[in-house]
Amino acid sequence: MLYIVPTPIGNLEDITLRALRILKEVTVVLAEDTRTSRRLLDHYGITTHLRAFHAHNEHNVVERVVDELASGVDMALISDAGTPGISDPGFLLARACVAKGVRIECLPGATAFVPALVASGLPCDTFHFDGFLPHKKGRQTRLRFLAELPYTFVLYESPFRLVKCLDELIAVCGPERRACVARELSKLHEEITTTTLEALKLHYTQKDVKGEIVLVVAGKPD
Ligand code: SAM
Repeated sequence: MLYIVPTPIGNLEDITLRALRILKEVTVVLAEDTRTSRRLLDHYGITTHLRAFHAHNEHNVVERVVDELASGVDMALISDAGTPGISDPGFLLARACVAKGVRIECLPGATAFVPALVASGLPCDTFHFDGFLPHKKGRQTRLRFLAELPYTFVLYESPFRLVKCLDELIAVCGPERRACVARELSKLHEEITTTTLEALKLHYTQKDVKGEIVLVVAGKPD
């Protein structure tokens, strides 16, 4: 069995009792960064063996991991924060497990885009999640595609590129499109601001942008 286990995106209380039990019970925890995850597991008094599984080795190790799972070794996959597979390694392993008939359980739990979307006050009955935009090639095509969507879309963005991204969104969506910056969710300095793209740009141009950010943008109006 492979368990895909969400871990907190800031507040260490945001982990389920079941997640903690599974992290204790499995033979191996596959982790994006074993040092980060060791600190997390230490915090909960979990001593399970950690093994590296990240973007740089997943292609090479995925088949071996699936063979071990198929032979009866239970494992859990975690990332540095949130749900594995959501802008984090996880898809390749899940796909390989499905192909080999290895059972997967993904526990419900922390992820950054859901609280951002719901707290933004923008329509969340239908939405599109796009994760990180490409930095160079394909970025403009992606932005033009997003601007035409008739429903809310959600992006992950680094604080260093936030103002540039808002500028690019204004160019394709117009300055009056409503949007939300959700910063440092579940942490001490959580800040959720919903207004127009223009006002967000003005706000974040005036100060140093720090922390982790989810950007939620309303769909194209009728
Ligand atoms: N797997 C994670 C998830 O389920 O949300 C996402 C991992 S991705 C590598 C990291 C990005 O998620 C950050 O750059 C930021 O855009 C977003 N993020 C993670 N934690 C956040 C938080 N506490 N507040 C706002 N955004 C966050």
